[in-house]
Amino acid sequence: MHEFELIERYFTHKTAGAGVILGVGDDGAVLRVSPGRDLVAVVDTLVAGVHFPQGLAAADIGYRALAVNLSDIAAMGGVPRWFTLALTLPAADPAWLEEFAGGLFDAARESSVALVGGDTTSGSQLVISVQLLGDVVAGAFLTRSGCQPEDRIYVSGTLGDAAAGLARLPQEAGTQRLAQRFRRPTARVRLGQALVGIATAAIDVSDGLHADLNHVLRASNCGASLQLERLPLSAELLAQCSEAEAVQLALSGGDDYELVFCVSAAQEARVQQIAHDLGEQITCIGNAEHEQGLRLTHRGTPYTAQSDGYRHFS
Ligand code: ADP
Ligand code: MG
Repeated sequence: MHEFELIERYFTHKTAGAGVILGVGDDGAVLRVSPGRDLVAVVDTLVAGVHFPQGLAAADIGYRALAVNLSDIAAMGGVPRWFTLALTLPAADPAWLEEFAGGLFDAARESSVALVGGDTTSGSQLVISVQLLGDVVAGAFLTRSGCQPEDRIYVSGTLGDAAAGLARLPQEAGTQRLAQRFRRPTARVRLGQALVGIATAAIDVSDGLHADLNHVLRASNCGASLQLERLPLSAELLAQCSEAEAVQLALSGGDDYELVFCVSAAQEARVQQIAHDLGEQITCIGNAEHEQGLRLTHRGTPYTAQSDGYRHFS
């Protein structure tokens, strides 16, 4: 099977979508941007052996490749619309491609996004790069930089599950839900959209709470105190490890794709109502402060984080 057969067979069938004037098959895609809206562009690359274990099921690789980008759009408060897919494959294995496309289009269907183009090459390593375009009402988006001292710091969902699930792959007895959190991350897209105009800052947790909240604090030129006993830890996680390990995973584990966001005290009731209406769990874990840096306590005792998240080339 050569490049063009491969594209035709696996990636051409579902290109229809609102605003797609021209999808897969020409030299470029043509997309219609609605009046009064701004585009939001994100891209994320997954390298086999770096971002996921070599043996991860192809369907999960496909799902994840889109989900991690949906999470970036969520952190911007955007509506995901269109994506392109750059694939580098060691081999054109039909069974693998069928599965991969299945998982990818599961995520695409769930979030109503259309694949509109891409690039396919052979190479020694499996590399998947997805670029996702979303939109927002002109000027109305979330950033990392608006957090103010005294703001409340919130996180969605639970933290640490994906890292624990990844550490326990491929054997999964009793840890299916944790593994699933790694395999099929749920991007908090609707929550992100609802926070536009309400949250002062937001980021998605891809590298761990400690590293990602620090990005917000630096961009916002403030600091924060977190009370780690307030961290949302799932029952499944606490069944697999001690509370101390769970806290460590929540801080530095990564791959959770939850949202961390800041809101003024005056907006707290509104945020609680939004989360309730969306059926999303959110938890206040601390406060922003004037003093730079991130201060952690666990039941009143100062706590030192052991790692500042994953960094390439370090
Ligand atoms: P060109 O040589 O003009 O860059 P290609 O031969 O790379 O075009 O691709 C042909 C068409 O197939 C283009 O519309 C491109 O966007 C699309 N395409 C290539 N690879 C993929 C892929 N993995 N998924 C979706 N569309 C793809
Ligand atoms: Mg090309």
